[in-house]
Amino acid sequence: MHIRVLGAAAGGGFPQWNCSCTNCLRLRQGRFHGQPRTQAQLAVSTDDASWYLLNASPDLRFQIESFPPLHPQAACLRHSPIAGIVLPSAEVDAALGLLLLRESQPLTVYATSAVRQILTDDNSLFQVLRRQRNQVKWISMMPDVPFALQDSGLECLPVSTDGGFPGFVPEGRRKELDPREAVLGVFLQHQGHRVAVFSGASRVCPDWLEEFNRCDVVFFDGTFWSDDELIQLQGSGKTAREMGHQPVQETVRALAKITARKIFIHINNSNPILDEDSEEFRMTRDAGWEVAFDGMDLVV
Ligand SMILES: [Zn+2]
Repeated sequence: MHIRVLGAAAGGGFPQWNCSCTNCLRLRQGRFHGQPRTQAQLAVSTDDASWYLLNASPDLRFQIESFPPLHPQAACLRHSPIAGIVLPSAEVDAALGLLLLRESQPLTVYATSAVRQILTDDNSLFQVLRRQRNQVKWISMMPDVPFALQDSGLECLPVSTDGGFPGFVPEGRRKELDPREAVLGVFLQHQGHRVAVFSGASRVCPDWLEEFNRCDVVFFDGTFWSDDELIQLQGSGKTAREMGHQPVQETVRALAKITARKIFIHINNSNPILDEDSEEFRMTRDAGWEVAFDGMDLVV
C-alpha cells in the first residue's frame, strides 16, 4: 500500500489567509523553522496506477498537480488515475474539493448517507456534480461495515468517531440524521497491512486500541496541542474537544502503548508542533510521534 500525504493541515491551511498568529506571521516573514501545509488530503494506491483519495480538500487541484501519479495519462484527452474518493465527513475542509472535480469526469464517492444528504440534498451548489448522467456515483458506507474499494484489493472499515455534524448544518436537520454518520475514522487493509486514518476525533475509544496495534501506521487528529488553544489565541471560542478534536498532548498519553508508526495529521496553523524549534515539537517526537507534512510518502 502506497500512501501519499498531499496535505497535512487542518481547515484554513498553514498559513491561513486571515491569520497572524505567531506561527503564520513568522512563516510569512521567513523566521519559522517548519513547512507551510495545505489542507488535509491523503492518496492511497495498491498498484501506483489507480488511486483513492481520503478527503476532498479545498486545495485538491493544487495537490493533484503537485503529485504526477495523479495526472491524466497523456494518451487520453480526459482521464484521471483517481478511482474513488472516500469522504469521512461533510466538513468544508474534507468535502469542498469535490466541486473542483466537476469537469465531467465520472467519479465514485464513498460517503455515509448523512454526509451525502448534507452535500447533495441541502446544498444546490453540489448539483454541479449532477450535470451529466452517471457523473458521480455515490456509494453509501456505514460505520462498522467493511467494504471493498472496487477491484483495488483495498478493504475499508469505517468507524464512527462520535464527532458532530458541521456547524453549517441547521439544528433541525441534525435531528433527522444519524449522529454516528457525522465523522468517520477509517481502517484501510491490503495484503495483511493496515493503516488507520482518524483525522477528526475528540477522544480515543478503548475499542480502537487493539485495532491500532494491528496497524502498520496510525494517522491521528493533530489539530490542536492544547484544549484551550484557540481560546488563548482569540480570547474566546470553543475548546478543542468541543470542536471535535482531542488535544495532541492528551493523545500522546492515550496512545502511548501503541506500537504502530504514529503520525499526527490535520494540524491547525496555531499548533506549536508545526514549529520544529518548539518544545512541543520536541516532546511530540520524543513520545514517538511524527508530524505529517505535504509530500510525506509511505509504503507499507
Ligand atoms: Zn495562524
